Amino acid sequence: MAVKTPPPLNTDRRFPDHMTSAHALLLKAKRGEKGNTTDKRYAVPAFNVTTFQGINAAFRAFELLGSSGLLAFSNSALKHFGEGDPVFGLEVATTYVRQRAKASTVMVATHLDHGDYISAGGRKVVQAAVQYLTSVMADNSTNKAEKKAMPLADNIALTREVVDMAHPVGLSVEGELGVLAGEEDEDTQSEFSTYTNPAELDRFLKETGVLMLAPTIGTMHGPNKGKPGHKVKLNIPLAHELLKIANAINEEIVFVAHGASTLYEHVRAYALDQLKQLGDPSGAAQKWRDFVGTDWDQIGGLIEAGFCKINTDTENRQTYLAALLGAINSNSAKIDIRWYDNICTDALTQSYLQKLIMAGDYGVWHEPKIDVEKFRFDLGQSLKQLLEMCRR
Ligand SMILES: [Zn+2]
Repeated sequence: MAVKTPPPLNTDRRFPDHMTSAHALLLKAKRGEKGNTTDKRYAVPAFNVTTFQGINAAFRAFELLGSSGLLAFSNSALKHFGEGDPVFGLEVATTYVRQRAKASTVMVATHLDHGDYISAGGRKVVQAAVQYLTSVMADNSTNKAEKKAMPLADNIALTREVVDMAHPVGLSVEGELGVLAGEEDEDTQSEFSTYTNPAELDRFLKETGVLMLAPTIGTMHGPNKGKPGHKVKLNIPLAHELLKIANAINEEIVFVAHGASTLYEHVRAYALDQLKQLGDPSGAAQKWRDFVGTDWDQIGGLIEAGFCKINTDTENRQTYLAALLGAINSNSAKIDIRWYDNICTDALTQSYLQKLIMAGDYGVWHEPKIDVEKFRFDLGQSLKQLLEMCRR
């Protein structure tokens, strides 16, 4: 039976000021476009924001660097914004981002992370996201309730339903093919993992029409990407094989890396130092020692293979936590929520700046306001001091 051609992404859709679909930003990255020039391929890190201060930290980083901005919202983050109601969370978070974007110097996209069109609750959130965001992920690769992989035909049919709804109104859609192991948050976890099959990729892309795809090539969700001392090795040759297939269908297709967070060694060292001074009351030091991230040089290999969206969450959470430990250590009698909040938000900003620089996502919308070569991520210093040292 011939499959009806999927609807193309409507690129005429006008979003609120300084906002665009995630795909528009990723396509620039795949083509290496910055300002009026074209250089080597880069990636846009997608930051999973969970608080208003996290949104502020991300905007600060984007504006300092002239980066393309990608804010991702998971279902559990939306519940957090909406006091348990993800649709209310969408409404309030989106209102905030739109106001923030209005005065911004860069273009940003808002993306639903791990939406699914399988469960009734998942469908409701995806439908609401189409009203509020500029891009959605329809991850129908796994039935989360039953903890099993979905048959390919079902994954295709459900993802296609989302494309039919989102593409005509200008929202890009990200699909997932293969199963990614690990735990991202309470709503996204799997104990097993499978590589994306090239023949299935060809069929999936042609029949769904998605322009953003998360293949599985060995990355893992969560803070432990393998046993201590044994890092996950990504299947870069497979990534290149998949890219060839995707490019043959449509050169505008971009890949997305999930479970690709790196571990900042100096953040770990900082946290361990703080824990030592605090007497490690909950025995957390061993857990910090056991964290395993993905090596950044492997991520660099993925960027070359067309992975233009790098999902980035764990290392930012670790940075936030390390900064909080430091704040408590330096003054546990400061009766001011803002004091702790500012320290953690400044640390998040540092983490975001670092990841944007690593991914090459700077100077896209304007020249960076800091010298990226001189930027040194350091929780031992205030953000203000750090920026002064690399101000242009
Ligand atoms: Zn993910």
